[in-house]
Amino acid sequence: MGERLTRREVVKGAAWLGAGAVLAGTGRLDALLAQAVQRLDESSSRLGWPSVTPLPPLDNHYPLMPMWKTELRQLAPNVYVYQQQGGTGLPNAGISNAGLFVGEDWSVALDALGFPLQTKAFLAAAKQATGGKPIAQLINTHHHGDHVAGNQFFLPAQILGHPYCRQEVLKAVPTTPKSWPKQEGVADGTEVRKLTPPGATFEDNLTYHIGGNVVEFHFAGPAHTWGDIIAYLPQHKILFAGDLAFFHLVPYAHNGYVTKWLEAIDKIMKMDVDSIIPGHGPVGGKKDLVEMAEYFRVLKVEAKKRYDAHMSAGQAAADIKMGKFDNWMGPERIVMNTVRLYDEFRGTLTPDLDMAGTKSAIEEYNSIKAGKKSA
Ligand SMILES: [Zn+2]
Repeated sequence: MGERLTRREVVKGAAWLGAGAVLAGTGRLDALLAQAVQRLDESSSRLGWPSVTPLPPLDNHYPLMPMWKTELRQLAPNVYVYQQQGGTGLPNAGISNAGLFVGEDWSVALDALGFPLQTKAFLAAAKQATGGKPIAQLINTHHHGDHVAGNQFFLPAQILGHPYCRQEVLKAVPTTPKSWPKQEGVADGTEVRKLTPPGATFEDNLTYHIGGNVVEFHFAGPAHTWGDIIAYLPQHKILFAGDLAFFHLVPYAHNGYVTKWLEAIDKIMKMDVDSIIPGHGPVGGKKDLVEMAEYFRVLKVEAKKRYDAHMSAGQAAADIKMGKFDNWMGPERIVMNTVRLYDEFRGTLTPDLDMAGTKSAIEEYNSIKAGKKSA
């Protein structure tokens, strides 16, 4: 492990790298990459499987991603995104975004973020922007912790989601500790976890007329999960895509159905949409979604070749080079994503995590990368 830089140094270095230059193999750059980019496997922490190590290296033929900051940003009258920071060198590709739709007397929020301090910061920003209007409803795009773990801080708001989302939140909570451990940027140590699944569910569509806006919530799964909800604002051509979209981050299919996800993206591409708010990453548009889909299309082709050649998922993940996508946050997800594709190819895919398949693929990937085993 190289010396760990402070976040400020990393941000400074990465901002310079992200200035748009294609990375040439300069000594300065290599040195910066070697030390500045602490690439952490953030995908394993909540799920109890081993870390992917070492991570796929950066590819210096391609640019690094841009940096983006945490902010509540107005997108249209009474429509806001709460975007959380990210970029090369910043840890935690699991940091997610939220939305806010403001009405005359109350607001509707989309997603609750993943940690108490994140959620409290979002709620404080929302309060300031709306002059303290209460958030009466919260809609969860899906059940993953980085979107629902903050649910409790919205109470007494009504919480809504797809029935699958409710079912999975109810399953997941008993395995977590009772209190949030104190950690900088995560929790101040006073927050007791409270089981807070959606108390109201909808299967297909739900429309709000709020603050002069039509906000349509649609079921869009199975894709990232079997309970994905997206929010569409036809008047403004804005789509909150939840985790159907990851911009400048590797999309994570550990609970997903890649082929159906690509079909859901094709449907979005036919919608009248200008702005897309991803579950993770900065606000973008259709070109960003196409680029993300390209990751899955490339990975699916590469994984299938290796599946047909009787390589295991761990061997395949260790062997595949993703080019520009290796510079995105969350490169370790190639292992989990390959496991899901193998489950598809074999016809053994289920909505649940493939715990055994993932664990053995990570172990095999790690031992190949450590030189203990050849691919
Ligand atoms: Zn997710």
